[in-house]
Amino acid sequence: MNLEAIARTRGVDLGAWPPRYDPAWRPAPGAEHWLPEVECAPPAARDGLILAKLRAQVRWAWDKSPFYRRKWGEAGVSPDTLESLDALARFPVVQKAELRAAQAAHPPYGDYLCVAPEEVARIHGTSGTTGRPTVFGVGRADWERIGEAHARILWGAGLRPGDRVMICSFFSLYMGSWGALVGAERLGATAFPFGAGVAGQTLMAVQWARELRPTAFYSTPSYALHLAETARREGVDPRALGIRTLVFSGEPGAGIPATRRLIEETFGGLCVDMGSMAEMSPWMTNGECRHRTGMHLWQDLVYTQVCDPATWTPVPDGAEGTPVYTHLERTSQPMIRLVSGDLARWTAAPCACGRTYPRLPQGLYGRIDDMFIVRGENIYPSAIEDTLRAIEGFGGEFRVIISRREAMDDLLIRAEHAGSHAEPALRARLEETMRERLRARLGVRPVVELVPEGTLPRSEFKARRVTDDRDLYRQTLGRRG
Ligand SMILES: [Zn+2]
Repeated sequence: MNLEAIARTRGVDLGAWPPRYDPAWRPAPGAEHWLPEVECAPPAARDGLILAKLRAQVRWAWDKSPFYRRKWGEAGVSPDTLESLDALARFPVVQKAELRAAQAAHPPYGDYLCVAPEEVARIHGTSGTTGRPTVFGVGRADWERIGEAHARILWGAGLRPGDRVMICSFFSLYMGSWGALVGAERLGATAFPFGAGVAGQTLMAVQWARELRPTAFYSTPSYALHLAETARREGVDPRALGIRTLVFSGEPGAGIPATRRLIEETFGGLCVDMGSMAEMSPWMTNGECRHRTGMHLWQDLVYTQVCDPATWTPVPDGAEGTPVYTHLERTSQPMIRLVSGDLARWTAAPCACGRTYPRLPQGLYGRIDDMFIVRGENIYPSAIEDTLRAIEGFGGEFRVIISRREAMDDLLIRAEHAGSHAEPALRARLEETMRERLRARLGVRPVVELVPEGTLPRSEFKARRVTDDRDLYRQTLGRRG
């Protein structure tokens, strides 16, 4: 039997594009995989399926979107260019700024909306904190396929119909919460969309979790740690909540080894890392399985290539680059080669789960634009987080302040010490340990300043921990000059 015929026995019609899914079909609860014939297929066999989907997706965008027709026309490519998967690298990449410009010129959805506006079932978007917000118009059929994809990936993380999934992230423009919700519903779990961001809500979350005993939990990693601190203040051990699986997206923490360890020790459950970009929903298509060996790239849902940011061609196995994403079954606002700007390494090395998808063993560990340079060394905030969280006596939160004094960069790490390390001699030793381990990891000797645990504000959502004052210094110099 070929792949298509087998998929039909599992409620998937791959002969059509976009594929049709039977919304009532579900694997037996004991099954390890949702669609094993595709997930565990020899990559070359699966590539045939991916190429067929890719051709149909690109043809759809070419026929329906002035944005893509213009862009591809200028680059001299068309759907006929796709003789193989490798030929995708000849297509120009899409940058987020182009999407914003297209929406400014053709409001509200931009000229890459490939369905009639009446077919848009949901509007989401970015918060626009760094410029014009981007509007996501998600078609009705796309929304169902997003649920289908998320259910399959959450199944891989170990979620089952018997689970009670508490979702503690914003229910607003943000896609993540809604995607987790539709995925949990599709796989047959009990969804508990609790939300976040309202004053006093974290304390309420602890009280509700104690009553409702969720077995699975979704939020950002920083929020989970904030919730644990709140629970302990109330005399509740987070382990006593009984959460078996914690699924994260929105920030890189769950892929940072020391943060993952801390979350698993704190809650006594598995910490699973997921997520790509809101534009790419289903955005969980970078998603770990329950073995947690780094996020799998679920290539038959969204085709991902880790690319060299100078040439936009895929980097070799094991090398570092930035993920470039391509939808394979999205009709409303398809993204063909969207640049993420995240940093990752990829590998084709096998995973114990049997899936043959490539993996990102260190997750998304930074952003091209998050990286800062101090005295010639490239530094990622995630490396600082990983180092601090592995040190006994660290109080849980930190800030990074980069400044320039007399043409010399200064790296200041303001870190909390735990209550157990308040005594002056212990503090001095802790400060020295932090300074030395950070120097070994970063190649730069930082100034470490300790403050008591609980001093630094906790984030309800994505933590912003770096302040670079060197721009201020340059501007001041400019004015003086
Ligand atoms: Zn795996």
